[in-house]
Amino acid sequence: MTPILELQNVHTRYGQVEALKGVSVAVNAGEIVTLIGANGAGKTTLLMTACGDPRAASGKVLFEGREITSLQTWDVIRHGIAVVPEGRRIFPGLTVEENLHMGGFFSQPEQLRADMERVFELFPRLAERRRQRGGTLSGGEQQMLAIGRALMTRPRLLLLDEPSLGLAPQIISQIFRIIEEIRDEGVTIFLVEQNAHRALQLADRGYVLETGRIVLEDSGDNLLSNDAVRRAYLGG
Ligand code: ATP
Repeated sequence: MTPILELQNVHTRYGQVEALKGVSVAVNAGEIVTLIGANGAGKTTLLMTACGDPRAASGKVLFEGREITSLQTWDVIRHGIAVVPEGRRIFPGLTVEENLHMGGFFSQPEQLRADMERVFELFPRLAERRRQRGGTLSGGEQQMLAIGRALMTRPRLLLLDEPSLGLAPQIISQIFRIIEEIRDEGVTIFLVEQNAHRALQLADRGYVLETGRIVLEDSGDNLLSNDAVRRAYLGG
């Protein structure tokens, strides 16, 4: 089976800094795959290289078997990948509805309405706040909005960068439940997390990234019980 997303021997540089040193990763359709690693390991770089920003200096990025390495990010998104970047980056001055509109910018009005209702079903909290400005939402609600906005493009693959960052444990559980629900609706998930324990519990498979190299790959359960992973990422 062709993976929905594949990185083959990818190198990514910021000037002299080589952030990814020959990374190969595969995500299969229907999976939740997580990438864990320490601060500065290159997790964000890997996720963002998958959608062309930054561009891989060498190696290949494939989506559904087609090479997308040198596409512009907007073109990658058009092909069916959506990204929720670290820090969420919602539009603080726009309402919840207007933020979702921006996500569905290229949709026909009828599709836009249907997609927005789907987001509101997934996130009733957003439905209650549809006319509230994004900047006044709580951190968890902003994360919901960022995910909802990404879903407005009807992606087949959703890339999530640290969805739990800065959120209270209860809200994290809620966000992770919703991520599972999104997968169950047919969207493949690739997520980067510092919260390794939660992420590995959620994931079918995981990768461990250390200073720009993948050092381990296994099922979420096996990584959770792996001694080296426990010591380095799970607090013992
Ligand atoms: P964190 O968990 O702290 O967000 P990370 O694993 O996501 O870290 P990256 O943000 O991908 O790591 O950074 C990997 C390396 O690339 C780091 O050494 C970082 O300083 C460097 N780096 C990231 N972005 C840039 C940039 N725009 N310009 C120069 N160097 C960068």
